[in-house]
Amino acid sequence: MHGYSVTLPAMYLVKSPFFLKWYYPQLLWNKPRSEKTIYITFDDGPIPIVTPFVLKTLAAYNAKATFFCIGDNIRKHPDVFNAVVNSGHAIGNHTFNHLNGWKTDDETYIKNILEAQALTQTNLFRPPYGRIKKSQIRKLKGVGGRESEVGSEQSAVSSLQSDIKTLSFEVRNKSSEPQFQPSNHYPLTAKPNPSTLYPPNPKPSTLHPKPSTLNLPAFHLIMWDVLSGDFDTNLAPEKCYQNVIINTQNGSIIVFHDSLKAFDRLQYALPRVLKYFTERGFSFERL
Ligand SMILES: [Zn+2]
Repeated sequence: MHGYSVTLPAMYLVKSPFFLKWYYPQLLWNKPRSEKTIYITFDDGPIPIVTPFVLKTLAAYNAKATFFCIGDNIRKHPDVFNAVVNSGHAIGNHTFNHLNGWKTDDETYIKNILEAQALTQTNLFRPPYGRIKKSQIRKLKGVGGRESEVGSEQSAVSSLQSDIKTLSFEVRNKSSEPQFQPSNHYPLTAKPNPSTLYPPNPKPSTLHPKPSTLNLPAFHLIMWDVLSGDFDTNLAPEKCYQNVIINTQNGSIIVFHDSLKAFDRLQYALPRVLKYFTERGFSFERL
């Protein structure tokens, strides 16, 4: 009617604002700004087609990245998961069923993370939707001993440790279910051979000590400072690319998704982002 259109604001923030970082100092939002290093992350995989596309594209630029995997997707696509691990990328835990921390009680939330942890074996965690309660943060950073908290948190930690033992038992029992036979791919029982699970030169910080005991590490909780918006089906692929180019700087942690929903934008933006920053002297590393 007036000859112009109104663009609705995006319902998500491409650049993480300072007040979020201030409110959640326990979370990692970006790496040091001193190095020309960029940390690309991929959430919600591993799945066929999309994840292999990502691996191939990263390899073309000699780029390393971090994959925050959904436990249930690892269960469904163990070969794809192995391909990610064998390509030398870092693995992160993204819960087993992509739970929203704000809508999930702490016990359920932690148990779901433990279930994924049996497969991911990492000390990196990213909360799905970026939504996590402070009480959940305390539990995830406290379990494992290194950053144990005092007082009432102690009892929570103790009770979690017994949950872990129970879950360890449950997870192992699941391997006998006929529809899923992880022993072909992931020996969930006593002693998996680490060399089949990890690349030759993994960073020690991403190694989980002993899967057989299933102790949770003191997780590093990883957020981001650049959201590509690739999950937004209303976003033009070119705009997704621009989101990343405009907002990325030294030490940025960028979020993409190896999901079917994101694939149109991912296919367009990822190779161009890698090309753009490689030509400007940046390297891409795992967290
Ligand atoms: Zn996610």
